[in-house]
Amino acid sequence: MSDIDKLIRPNISNLKPYSTARDEFKGAADIYLDANENPYPSPYHRYPDPLQTRLKAKIASVKKVNPEQIFIGNGSDEAIDLLIRAFCEPAKDAILITEPTYGMYSVCAGVNNVEVIKTKLTPDFQLDTDVIQSSLTPAVKIIFLCSPNNPSGNLLKKELIIRLLNSFQGIVVVDEAYIDFADDEGFLPLISDYQRLVVLQTLSKAWGLAGLRLGMAFAQQELIQVLNKIKYPYNISTLVQQVVLEQLGREEEKVQQVQEIIQQRQKLAEELSGIPLVEHIYPSDANFLLVRVNNARATYDYLLNESIIVRDRSNVVLCDNCLRITIGTPEENQRLLRTLTLFAQTKAS
Ligand SMILES: *Cc1c(COP(=O)(O)O)cnc(C)c1O
Repeated sequence: MSDIDKLIRPNISNLKPYSTARDEFKGAADIYLDANENPYPSPYHRYPDPLQTRLKAKIASVKKVNPEQIFIGNGSDEAIDLLIRAFCEPAKDAILITEPTYGMYSVCAGVNNVEVIKTKLTPDFQLDTDVIQSSLTPAVKIIFLCSPNNPSGNLLKKELIIRLLNSFQGIVVVDEAYIDFADDEGFLPLISDYQRLVVLQTLSKAWGLAGLRLGMAFAQQELIQVLNKIKYPYNISTLVQQVVLEQLGREEEKVQQVQEIIQQRQKLAEELSGIPLVEHIYPSDANFLLVRVNNARATYDYLLNESIIVRDRSNVVLCDNCLRITIGTPEENQRLLRTLTLFAQTKAS
């Protein structure tokens, strides 16, 4: 029995998946009378490819993995939900998270009636492997890690994640939504080494395609097949598959935009540090900065009133008085800086 066989919920293991017309006949024919589609041509009268074969071939070449190691979801959020449904028995199993972190792990667990064991990162937002080890129970089937972490912005230390991969017998998910902004190759090169590793990435951030809803899970083939078995058969529309395939040709433009955003991140951090109400700027490997100010709510409200929206994270663990600020265009960042400077002056006088 493989590690995955042992971890998968028995009902999922025994499930016979829905077999689409497109699963039963692959290839080209003259006449398709197998799927109850409307025969009159339009760009979308046929059902989409349930396994997104062309798109996966393209993603495989961009990411340097095998197509069988890719799951494509309607945003990474679909992959998060399916992982919990595949491996966690409702009212029995649990996931473990390291706070502060992305909110969807808890929400998806909650929807599925799966307990969430919450541990804390260290004050500089690194993994505390002792705390994690002592919080683990046999019920924990998945550990969700986010690197670079949202909302703190930093990469988690690779050697600590590897330590968890070697010691914990469940699934370790590393959410790399922001990896393109980090000076690090992340965990994709390691999926062949660890059967229980899942890497999540998305087109919503660096690729600038949040509106299309496309997220990816990378893992060994056996685990990917579990996700394919339980997803909705036609989870990615023909339109999205086509547009994403075109958009993945814009890799050079994406790389340029990422470089610009990284430069702006550095510049914004320097200039913010000169504003008196700013108390601390956390180091970022992502496209946002976590900034501690002297009064997060008042600063948020002032910016809001000036038509600038940031994210108030002051109610989040370890984030007292912190705002999360996405890096904008140079003009947007300058207006943010001018507005904050004005606010600091008003308060000083
Ligand atoms: C933005 C974000 C995602 C992206 O989710 P999509 O559903 O792919 O848009 C995933 N994880 C984290 C940590 C994020 O911040």
